[in-house]
Amino acid sequence: MKRHTFLSAFRPDLFHPDESLSTPDKFCIFEPGKMTNMIPIRVAELFGIPGDGRVVTVKGWVRTKRGNRQISFIALNDGSVIHSVQVVVDIARHGEEFLRKINTGACISVTGKLVTSQGQGQAFEIQADHIEVLGGADETYPLQKKGHSLEFLREIAHLRPRTNTFGAVFRIRHHLSFAIHKYFNDNGFFCLHAPIITGSDAEGAGEMFQVTTLNISNPPRNEDGSVNFREDFFGKPANLTVSGQLEAELAALALGKVYTFGPTFRAENSNTPRHLAEFWMIEPEVAFNDIWNNMDLAEDFLKFLVKYALEHCHDDLEFLNNLYDKELLTRLRFVVENPFERLSYSEATNVLIKSGKKFEFPVRWGTDLQKEHENFLVDYFKRPAILTDYPKEIKAFYMKQNDDGKTVRAMDILFPWIGEIIGGSQREENYDALLGRIHELQIPEKDLWWYLDTRKFGSCVHSGFGLGFERLILFVTGMTNIRDVIPFPRTPKNAEF
Ligand code: ATP
Ligand code: MN
Repeated sequence: MKRHTFLSAFRPDLFHPDESLSTPDKFCIFEPGKMTNMIPIRVAELFGIPGDGRVVTVKGWVRTKRGNRQISFIALNDGSVIHSVQVVVDIARHGEEFLRKINTGACISVTGKLVTSQGQGQAFEIQADHIEVLGGADETYPLQKKGHSLEFLREIAHLRPRTNTFGAVFRIRHHLSFAIHKYFNDNGFFCLHAPIITGSDAEGAGEMFQVTTLNISNPPRNEDGSVNFREDFFGKPANLTVSGQLEAELAALALGKVYTFGPTFRAENSNTPRHLAEFWMIEPEVAFNDIWNNMDLAEDFLKFLVKYALEHCHDDLEFLNNLYDKELLTRLRFVVENPFERLSYSEATNVLIKSGKKFEFPVRWGTDLQKEHENFLVDYFKRPAILTDYPKEIKAFYMKQNDDGKTVRAMDILFPWIGEIIGGSQREENYDALLGRIHELQIPEKDLWWYLDTRKFGSCVHSGFGLGFERLILFVTGMTNIRDVIPFPRTPKNAEF
């Protein structure tokens, strides 16, 4: 005898009731009036089935309620897609008193017939047969009207996922997160979980959050008055990581191709729309890749991600495009379809100087590029740009030194509006050169003995980069503040929720 799967046994909504009842070989528990805790169908799935009168149950949150004296129209959203489903309620049948309990923000369960909609704006609607209020909401619910400012919504970050904008952003965030793992998995990379607490501050240089179990108002002290960290949890100072790169390098020199995808923390006091104190970073690291292979990987990776979003987040992107930024979809397609510009830092500074533009920070070979310079370059080339071979003074100790003695094989990828979205490099694989640089910069060698060991035993050319996940989401969603692409942003003086 033919049996439906477990799921369909509990999902009579996937079948037309008449069909289910009249064909005895189909197992179905559909019994009108006895659907106490039926698994609801999600609104996203409604788009895949015909509005032919089959009975469905949908559970979600009321966005709006409007209508006349006879009929009420409820826009019900369950978060599965940007679209709400229209629920049509016969007021006489359900009672005015009962309907008054269904306000914006309330959580309800609706069972009724799925039919093709007569009205404008939606393909189908549900004719409510049975409604249950699962959780009421009164007039103090903060999301009463449309068009709240993003600043206001940040103050109610616990409720903002219930808006169309944040529903869209967080769904896109999910899809991109999934796409990142997919890209690497499909390309033979292994995911490595780098530690979040680290005992080395080689990379952090004063921008790290310290982790301690000492009583900070009365810590144990050494004879000279300094804090005695031997009594701390780890027996020495510990911090939250600013990057998983050094650990990823260790793994790349064993597994060949690895990537990390985890939270990173920076106690930098930069209150900008592109910096968070806690953000997520993706850091691939590949043995035998030089800087050119590294650029190819980064460009292919970014294009894959943007393309994935275009293919999997169409409705959400269209919504954001229409509401905030009419150029969004065009810009995304442009990035997928066109090669990135590649040039050296020296060539870039020449372009900037020759432009004759008066920058707030004047350009001189050797200085770090500012946001205004990055923007100018991206505008000038009208596409993302990959800059390489930066002066060694403005880059990290581990980058491969060029033969000119002045530059290192760094690469930054600059994106429209975002500025730097990726920072990476070929790593210095030569033991003596690396140690020399560590001494030059007066980094405590003893903290990096394990890192140096990889250059002592079986060292090889290798490269990697770091992609700031939230900067990627900023670009893909067209949102303009990084606080609006992470569920609960951590920034200076703010760790609410
Ligand atoms: P920036 O110059 O923009 O501060 P950075 O040079 O400090 O960036 P890296 O240390 O190279 O950045 O980090 C790699 C990537 O991590 C950056 O390209 C960026 O996408 C992201 N990133 C860096 N700092 C932050 C931050 N505070 N908040 C969010 N993303 C960040
Ligand atoms: Mn920075």
